Amino acid sequence: MSEPDQNNKNSLYQDDIQFRKDSNKIRQYLEKSRFWRNMVLVLVTIAPLASFTFYYSAAKSQVDQDFRNQLVTTTRIVAAIVDAGKHDRLVSMGGSSEHTELLGLLAGIRAQFPEIRQLSTRIIRDGNLYIVLDTDLAYGTNPAKPQSGELLKLHSTTAEENEGLRQLQETGVWYSRDMVFNGEQAYQGACVLLPVTATSDRTMLCSVFSADAYLKHINLLERDSLLAILFTIMASIFLAYSVLKNHEQVTKSLHLAEKQRDMFLENSRTDPLTGALNRRAFDSAYVIAEAQLRRNKLPFALITLDIDNFKHINDNYGHDQGDLVLRALVQSLQKVIRPSDILIRMGGEEFAILCNLADANQAWSMAEKLRETASRIRLSTPVGKSIQFTISLGIRIIAVGDDVNLAQKYADIALYYAKLSGRNKTVIYTPGLEDKLQSLQNGGG
Ligand code: GH3
Ligand code: MG
Ligand code: MG
Repeated sequence: MSEPDQNNKNSLYQDDIQFRKDSNKIRQYLEKSRFWRNMVLVLVTIAPLASFTFYYSAAKSQVDQDFRNQLVTTTRIVAAIVDAGKHDRLVSMGGSSEHTELLGLLAGIRAQFPEIRQLSTRIIRDGNLYIVLDTDLAYGTNPAKPQSGELLKLHSTTAEENEGLRQLQETGVWYSRDMVFNGEQAYQGACVLLPVTATSDRTMLCSVFSADAYLKHINLLERDSLLAILFTIMASIFLAYSVLKNHEQVTKSLHLAEKQRDMFLENSRTDPLTGALNRRAFDSAYVIAEAQLRRNKLPFALITLDIDNFKHINDNYGHDQGDLVLRALVQSLQKVIRPSDILIRMGGEEFAILCNLADANQAWSMAEKLRETASRIRLSTPVGKSIQFTISLGIRIIAVGDDVNLAQKYADIALYYAKLSGRNKTVIYTPGLEDKLQSLQNGGG
């Protein structure tokens, strides 16, 4: 066996081991990445949902805040314009000129701010809530329109109003808790304390603001957040689908690569005619036998065998029948050899058997059994004839200290000797057989 052969068989063997290592790595990676892949999928789904929810609530509270600030600022401006002293007199004594004058002022202010629906001043006196002035009551069609200087008693203050008053005294502002819907339109009110002078009444200025712009803003915010969330969910679904698909594809590709590899390996190792292993398989099997010898000092035998006068079979019965002979021989030999032995078609009608862990006696009896088996094969041809043939065998035992690379050469010398000395024989190589072969060749002519 030459140097390139040695390299080739080693590289084939190592290449196969490397492929198995690599595909195992990929499989392990796929297994491990399954957990992190699922984590990422959960994160890409939850994170945008959470952040949009957070964004929505933050933006909404900012819009709420802006609206209230606008409400309070406007109410405070109006309160500042109202003449506190005049108002105080109006409440304590009544008097049509002050009443008309202040109401006119409030109506004027209201006309300046289109968003203000209603301006009023109210007092809490003896636990009752009274309207002092009200732009709506004055100009609307309400039959309860107060007479000049008259207080319009609304009702005894409720718990909510008392809570509002407490807030008013602490922070100077009282918001109506809920938005008021009047038909299609929405309103919200706020009250601020007026700097009351003479009386102990709690007097306040209230404004009712249109909340339409506010609601429109909130609706837009809701719609945009919802769209963003929908878009994100769709993107997440797409991402999840593509990641899962990708994972599945990689797994499939790996399986396919392994299957193809096995198929190619099988094809590259077997002889299509007989199904026996070929030289390439022999090379990698030989590497294993060599390793066994090196590590465990276990000898092995190489048997080469060749059909006797095969050319005659072809000539007499045709090439097809020759093929059938080759197949029949392989089938019969396979039944005789041990599972650990390897039968190889070296080429033509020449075969080799690598007998792992075999000494000379074991190899000899195996070879003889093969020879007898072959001689008992009968093949009937289409024209009703029976084909019968024999084989010759050469054996080389490789033990510790022997040159493994010369095994085939010596086995072949033994095989030639068997041929020249009459065929249908087994010859085991012993040192000096070359010389005997030489003299046989010379003697034989
Ligand atoms: P010997 O006993 O010395 O081995 O004689 P032999 O006739 O068997 O050997 P020889 O080398 O003269 O002839 C071998 C023949 O085997 C020649 C070749 O055409 C034939 N052969 C090789 N491969 C195949 C094959 O795959 N199918 C068939 N049918 N014949 C083959
Ligand atoms: Mg032959
Ligand atoms: Mg031959």
